[in-house]
Amino acid sequence: MVSTSFDYQRADTVQEAIKLLQEHNGDAKLLAGGHSLIPAMKLRLNSPALLIDVSRIEAMRGIREKDGQIIIGAMTTHYEIATSELLANKLPMLVAAAKVIGDVQVRNKGTIGGSLAHADPAADWPAVVLAANAQLHIHGPSGERMVSAGDFFTGFYSTALEDDEILTDLHFPIPPKGSKSTYVKFAQPASRYALVGCAVQVSMDGDSVSDCSIAFTGVSDAAFRDTAAEDALRGKALNADSIKSAADAAAEGVDIMSDHFASEEYRKHLAKVFLKRALESL
Ligand SMILES: Cc1cc2nc3c(=O)[nH]c(=O)nc-3n(C[C@H](O)[C@H](O)[C@H](O)COP(=O)(O)OP(=O)(O)OC[C@H]3O[C@@H](n4cnc5c(N)ncnc54)[C@H](O)[C@@H]3O)c2cc1C
Repeated sequence: MVSTSFDYQRADTVQEAIKLLQEHNGDAKLLAGGHSLIPAMKLRLNSPALLIDVSRIEAMRGIREKDGQIIIGAMTTHYEIATSELLANKLPMLVAAAKVIGDVQVRNKGTIGGSLAHADPAADWPAVVLAANAQLHIHGPSGERMVSAGDFFTGFYSTALEDDEILTDLHFPIPPKGSKSTYVKFAQPASRYALVGCAVQVSMDGDSVSDCSIAFTGVSDAAFRDTAAEDALRGKALNADSIKSAADAAAEGVDIMSDHFASEEYRKHLAKVFLKRALESL
């Protein structure tokens, strides 16, 4: 299928993009990498009158360290994250996730901001930003605000973003020295989206886990932090017993998706297996 006809305009600044969004009052869409939006337009799930290309706004690109944080522009591609030395050293979970997104073409064009704004329940980035305790920086007509990853995802393909707002960058606290993190997933064999994806970040105090965050994607209608699994690890040594307890607790008491790719029972099983794999790999 082909999309309905639409106009195209490139914005050079965040303010210009916001102004265009306002002028078109809900009938315009931001275009980032186009790897979710264009397929949706071809299926006529979306028919915006105007596409506002934000992919070349310089202020929304790049990866840098500032004041104990890593800041990633929303238009940074999956490939740029997968190949960042800074991230490999400070936030390896992001590199691990970026490397397993889609295929080479998807990684070259798709952006972290586009993925988060789209909030596909099987996308990889939502679990990663939750486990990394990221803050999402949003600009709109009335100014700017920071939203924690925990408050950003509000349900199935829905987020805290208003129609006239733009996600401009992401702020990740750099975990304390000695912390470890990773991302693993069971990929749908054709699309590579996550049937189950699991992001973990663990900080140690001597031999015991002083803090940890565990987040899943693909399991429910939106990515979520698994606090029961986290509680099973906190204060314990990271060993076979504590890993088993965390895996046993994983994805319990959660509304689990069921579709023609995987039943509810199978997804729950995968969540436990992939949490165990993630923790064992640290
Ligand atoms: C074949 C294929 C395989 C894929 N496999 C995977 C996979 O394994 N894992 C995975 O996670 N994803 C996968 N994807 C999705 C891919 O990662 C997309 O790049 C991503 O979901 C959307 O990013 P984008 O930059 O292409 O955004 P676009 O498609 O341009 O935009 C997506 C939506 O977000 C909005 N938007 C974009 N940027 C912003 C912004 N800065 N602020 C506010 N709103 C914004 C747009 O208006 C649109 O509604 C796959 C896609 C394809 C086509």
